[in-house]
Amino acid sequence: MLAALALSLLATEAHAHAGCGGHEIGRRNLGLMNPRQAAPTNVASGAVSIDPAFECTDYYYEPASKLVPLYPPVWPENNVTGAQECADILPNDTEAMALFQPINATLNAKFPNDRPHGTLLGDFAGVQYNYTDPDCWWSWAKCDTPKADTGLQPDITTVPTPETWGLGFDDGPNCSHNALYDYLQENNQRATMFYIGSNVLDWPLQALRATTDGHQICVHTWSHKYMTALTNSQAFAELYYARKVIKDLLGVTPQCWRPPYGDVDNRIRYIASQLNLTTIVWSDDSQDWREGVPADNVTAADVTLNYQAVVDKVSNGTYINHGPVVLTHELTNFTMSEFISQYPSIKNAFKHVAPLCVAYNITHPYVETDIVCPSFSQYISGTINISSSTPMDSSSSSSSGTTSMSGSMTGSMTGSATSSGTSASATSKSDTKTGSATPAMKSSFGLGASLLGAMVAGLLLA
Ligand SMILES: [Zn+2]
Repeated sequence: MLAALALSLLATEAHAHAGCGGHEIGRRNLGLMNPRQAAPTNVASGAVSIDPAFECTDYYYEPASKLVPLYPPVWPENNVTGAQECADILPNDTEAMALFQPINATLNAKFPNDRPHGTLLGDFAGVQYNYTDPDCWWSWAKCDTPKADTGLQPDITTVPTPETWGLGFDDGPNCSHNALYDYLQENNQRATMFYIGSNVLDWPLQALRATTDGHQICVHTWSHKYMTALTNSQAFAELYYARKVIKDLLGVTPQCWRPPYGDVDNRIRYIASQLNLTTIVWSDDSQDWREGVPADNVTAADVTLNYQAVVDKVSNGTYINHGPVVLTHELTNFTMSEFISQYPSIKNAFKHVAPLCVAYNITHPYVETDIVCPSFSQYISGTINISSSTPMDSSSSSSSGTTSMSGSMTGSMTGSATSSGTSASATSKSDTKTGSATPAMKSSFGLGASLLGAMVAGLLLA
């Protein structure tokens, strides 16, 4: 009875989470876009965008266009029927299937009773579950530490460095995120970006800006569904294709992920672990994603209070021996501008604000070991970029598929040449609150001839 009651409450909460999809901003209708000559982030020839509508106008980018047939649908629920769907292993993807099959075999032996819970949208009504929480199901009772006999690592919920704000943004890339990224640049601030695979394929140049700027990238699934509701192959595909598209477009293979809504259990943790993805949740939720969601009644003032509550814990000694990982988003203009407005007070209260690989002294955050994350001591001494360990020049080989993230960009991106600088935008398309937007920075992007040529050719990114 107790279990049923708790699940009923959870279902109500889950419905309220529907606004945290990320796709309200990043989605577009495939095949309906118009090509254009300049892209919002790699703006060519001085065509600097400070117009969010322009930033979120579809553009052609050949490397992404070529990938589309090799991936699940972008935002799979954006189908003709409107049915809620998620990624699954593509029928002819023998590489993915070969990787999945031994994982699946082990799963069935190792976690035989850990079955999918609820629906893709987090409706857990009617789910029968043992109140002792044998699956360490985060959505049930915030379990983040699987029992030792599972062989699974605890989830990351905090950072080990004292009085340090573990900084991350979920649900990107948001097509109009330039103002936020400009602000981070202006403040020499790096962060961990939890990117949704569908958004990366939708907005590849916005995604590239994160690595160009020296941020860390982690996986946030292909289409942002409740992972414990998925079958083994669906959960695998949501992680596998998101990780792969980041590699294919940004040249890096992340080794970390965050479950949407925190919805993870041992079965999902195991699949992630087999893809070398460390599970990261959070210790504090700004609730920024709930602002503007009609059923939630969370106001901007409420979110400000949530930020302030985390800040206040510095003075009461909570963070003497560690720091929080705070859930914040690049989901809407509100979530981005709210962070910008809160940042001075965060900086004032905390000794440090750092991306997670920095706070954990993870030197190699990606499979590509030539890309280095600065140690905590290096970071606080001024070496802040997650970037190539060796300077890359225009003749660098792309054979390793790596990308310099601190300046010029070469590597696996067909057609791009060098890029530096930033552009800015004021709002997301769904939000008119522009008060916190930062001024546009000068921009000096130079597009490679082949990319520009491809744009001129007018081919569509599908
Ligand atoms: Zn999310």
